[in-house]
Amino acid sequence: VVELKDVNKWYGEFHVLKEVNLQVRRGEKIVICGPSGSGKSTMIRCINRLEEHQAGDINVMGTKLTGDLRNIEHVRRDVGMVFQHFNLFPHLTVLENCCLAPIWVKKTPRKEAEALAMKYLERVRIPDQAHKYPGQLSGGQQQRVAIARSLCMSPQVMLFDEPTSALDPEMVREVLDVMVELANEGITMLCVTHEMGFAKQVADRVIFMDRGQIVEENTPEEFFNNPQSERSKLFLSQIL
Ligand code: ATP
Ligand code: MG
Repeated sequence: VVELKDVNKWYGEFHVLKEVNLQVRRGEKIVICGPSGSGKSTMIRCINRLEEHQAGDINVMGTKLTGDLRNIEHVRRDVGMVFQHFNLFPHLTVLENCCLAPIWVKKTPRKEAEALAMKYLERVRIPDQAHKYPGQLSGGQQQRVAIARSLCMSPQVMLFDEPTSALDPEMVREVLDVMVELANEGITMLCVTHEMGFAKQVADRVIFMDRGQIVEENTPEEFFNNPQSERSKLFLSQIL
């Protein structure tokens, strides 16, 4: 459902993605890890066109990402994204945050959108917070709102960029639990994270990036027990 073929990207002179190739099948869970600055965020942001690549092809659910705005809109409907810093609208309640895109993008009637939002807020176990503002919630709760908000658009693919790395340790678990449940329900998932327990539990494949390239791709068992490259060995020795 997601395919990157010889993808290259530059920030000015800086070659941030170098000949990146990746194929993700429906329902697959991919964990992406690698040192800071290796291009992980840039790569997943290219998948929903928050960043533009300059060479190669990116196909998402059969749509090729080009400058064509209709294609971009199409892809963004199918691809949900959850960020490190939640990115909720602070002046809207939790419920309004969740209803915004279904109402404005999908033209879902408000009543229906609210019912859907409540369903997903229940699923992430915070229906009781629906009428609060993001600033009144803990970090873990805010991130679960962000996940519920994405799910309200019924995405085919979910992108996560270090969803737990801004959280206090005691809140990491509650967010990971929700992500594990999602994974088990069969949604296609690409997740940048250094939560190796999560990777072992749900990932079909672990992708290791370094300096703009995918240098290793393996099952979690193989990646953790028997890393192939010097860079991944060093990386694992630093995070484990
Ligand atoms: P981290 O683990 O720290 O989040 P990352 O692997 O996600 O790192 P990216 O955010 O993709 O890395 O950044 C890759 C490289 O591109 C870094 O060297 C970064 O400084 C650079 N970079 C990122 N965004 C921009 C930008 N908008 N303009 C110029 N350079 C950028
Ligand atoms: Mg990043």
